[in-house]
Amino acid sequence: MSTIVIIGGGWAGCAAALAAQRGNAKHVILLERTDLLLGCGLAGGIMRNNGRHTAAEELRLLGAGDLIKAADKAATHAGFDFPGHSHATLYSTSKMEPAVRAQLGKRGIDMRFLSRVVDVQASDGCVKAVQLADNTWLEGDVFIECTGSAGPMGNCVRFGNGCAMCMLRCPSFGPRVSITARLGIKECMGMRQDGAVGSLSGSCEIRKDSLAPFLRRALRNDGVSVTPLPEQLVHRSMLSKKSCRQYALPDFADNIVLLDTGGHAKMMTPYFPIDQLRKVPGFENALYSHGSSMANSVRFLSRAPRNDFMKVSGAKNLFCAGEKSGFFVGHTEAMATGTLAGHNAAALADGGEQMRFPKELACGDIIAAESEGLERENGLKQRYTFSGGIYFERMQKRGLYVMDTAELRSRIRRLGLTGFFAATPKNAAA
Ligand SMILES: Cc1cc2nc3c(=O)[nH]c(=O)nc-3n(C[C@H](O)[C@H](O)[C@H](O)COP(=O)(O)OP(=O)(O)OC[C@H]3O[C@@H](n4cnc5c(N)ncnc54)[C@H](O)[C@@H]3O)c2cc1C
Repeated sequence: MSTIVIIGGGWAGCAAALAAQRGNAKHVILLERTDLLLGCGLAGGIMRNNGRHTAAEELRLLGAGDLIKAADKAATHAGFDFPGHSHATLYSTSKMEPAVRAQLGKRGIDMRFLSRVVDVQASDGCVKAVQLADNTWLEGDVFIECTGSAGPMGNCVRFGNGCAMCMLRCPSFGPRVSITARLGIKECMGMRQDGAVGSLSGSCEIRKDSLAPFLRRALRNDGVSVTPLPEQLVHRSMLSKKSCRQYALPDFADNIVLLDTGGHAKMMTPYFPIDQLRKVPGFENALYSHGSSMANSVRFLSRAPRNDFMKVSGAKNLFCAGEKSGFFVGHTEAMATGTLAGHNAAALADGGEQMRFPKELACGDIIAAESEGLERENGLKQRYTFSGGIYFERMQKRGLYVMDTAELRSRIRRLGLTGFFAATPKNAAA
């Protein structure tokens, strides 16, 4: 039985684990440095906004919709609009992690928490084993790096405003370590529009019970509240620092946009000085639950070189997914790349055929677009998401933004990929 080792249990690692587990018997081990799955997804929640709806439906029709279905099931609100974004769903950040953990457990994924990889052993470009922080070694046949691109603290201090005590909790669990970099393979770092290194995460969390009743009511009823800011509190420079180009719109500087992600309200700005925030009607007693007046995590610091099969260039049996694999922003983007990496890792282990998502699908086109973009001037400043910015524009121009599920179904049937990831290799060949 072959062993596939996935390093990092964010959305990309979870999707990779599910895809790798399909088909022939194999031992899929998911190593996560903290005590929880989902990584940055612990603080996220927005799904199906703009082109992410199409990508979510593509994954579902391709037979890789388990995590999409779980997010739909954990939704606090569905099918609502907020500035620049249509038909969004929000998952409850309180309910999501336990649901995904149960799902992976049922599928027989061997999840190992408090398991931080610190080093790697390879020979002739082939990874043999990874070393954990407790000095033990774990051997495998194929490896998938899904360690994300955020932090650790030293980077948040160097390239940001310091540690925001985010969901990655580096002081407790130790820093992110890049497996690709440990192999001596050169990675690249993203840049901000203003030329600084990396980019700041674009949202923080406010305790709902610290908000005025009228704001809580709007969140409960509509999923969103939009409060205009007086001119002296508008910080437009914040827009150029954000990772999420889809929210770098004037509406997000001119207003405080809150979204209801269950236990907390997601505030759509990297940070906001609390004394200024408390001058805004309804926010007089506001308290942060995650984030602060002055800092947020810094991301896109560590992109591995890869091909469109998600294999890391320069290593024979190492794949990558999620933010590690490109300047991709989002849960859905991590699920798409994770699914492909997991499938191809399993195919390599089984001697099966590896695949690329076809460019006729948004899931394939975004991976190609990100690779092409890297070669262009200002390539390090671009971010890729189905939900906005340059990629959503391309998606619309190429006719890939499809809201009609029946149309997507026939597109995927024509490509011969209906239920592709759900089928065992034997059935897929039939
Ligand atoms: C505050 C915030 C809000 C966001 N909101 C949204 C949103 O609403 N909607 C949306 O679509 N996207 C959102 N995003 C972006 C989205 O969360 C990410 O793009 C996506 O989840 C990245 O997933 P990933 O698996 O690639 O990386 P990560 O989520 O960073 O996961 C990487 C995992 O690897 C683990 N790890 C790292 N190094 C090691 C190691 N050496 N050994 C073992 N484990 C390791 C980490 O602990 C972590 O769990 C948000 C991001 C942030 C930070």
